[in-house]
Amino acid sequence: RAKIVPDSSVCFYEKEMDEAARERKSLRADLLRAIELGEFHLHYQVQTLVTTGEVSGYEALLRWNHRERGAISPEEFIPIAEESGSIVEIGEWVLRTACSNAASWSGGKIAVNVSGVQLARADFAEKVHAILVETGLSPSRLELEITETALIADKVRALHTLRRIRNLGVAIAIDDFGAGYSSLETLRAFPFSKIKLDRSFTRGLERDAQAKAIVRAVLALGKSLDIPVLAEGVETVSQLEILRDESCDEAQGYLIGRPGPSGGAANLNVALEPAVSLAS
Ligand code: C2E
Ligand code: MG
Ligand code: MG
Ligand code: MG
Repeated sequence: RAKIVPDSSVCFYEKEMDEAARERKSLRADLLRAIELGEFHLHYQVQTLVTTGEVSGYEALLRWNHRERGAISPEEFIPIAEESGSIVEIGEWVLRTACSNAASWSGGKIAVNVSGVQLARADFAEKVHAILVETGLSPSRLELEITETALIADKVRALHTLRRIRNLGVAIAIDDFGAGYSSLETLRAFPFSKIKLDRSFTRGLERDAQAKAIVRAVLALGKSLDIPVLAEGVETVSQLEILRDESCDEAQGYLIGRPGPSGGAANLNVALEPAVSLAS
């Protein structure tokens, strides 16, 4: 096309595309070796009950420290790992590491993000079971976070797998609720034990009347379906106050705690004195 249209901006655009494609290809190859090179580690972010500030659990968030490029965001590398299939092995590493760390804590839930690619594998429920047995973590302490986009590929299989996982005693949260293909049908059809409201709604709580109306509606929905709602991305005290006034169940965000490396008993003890509590 650059030859037919001799426009420098087109050439520039194609060159950029080339570079982006090359970069993806090299990250794709590097992802395959990242586990054995020990380039992955987990950060944990605290989740609390809104009314008391009590810790309800931690979300495990994957971090990649590339030997040459340094830290690369999961927003960048997870899609590449999904595309190439390496997310299956990486996700298994995440699950095993998170469960084994959490097993050494004195209590609390561990939430682990699961890709649609993992969920689509016929043996996923067995994998989860095997990792629980191997790490000794009680199933009641594990929660898997799944986005709606992860469910659209093969709904029948996804439903079957999620039911088996629930039968193990493991909880399932719908992640980033409201951000993507949200449909009430998804909430009705799948056995969710928590709704994680996307942080775009939390962000709008103070100024945007529509965002607040949506938060209120989702909280009402959660209440009538008897599914607790967690608000993601809480960054200010006034957001947390509004969430408390609207009877939101749980909260997570930079205000309450940034994702951090520690994990383990010491971390849990520190976090039991939450940075922010609206209890009194
Ligand atoms: P997510 O599961 O919705 O995780 C929440 C993201 O929001 C995290 O970004 C977290 O650091 C960030 N966050 C937390 N509190 C705040 C806040 O108050 N304000 C703002 N602006 N951001 C906040 P992170 O760690 O970069 O992860 C991004 C996404 O990558 C995750 O979104 C999840 O979809 C995916 N991801 C991370 N780890 C894994 C993993 O182990 N497996 C899979 N499949 N996906 C993962
Ligand atoms: Mg998540
Ligand atoms: Mg989320
Ligand atoms: Mg997200």
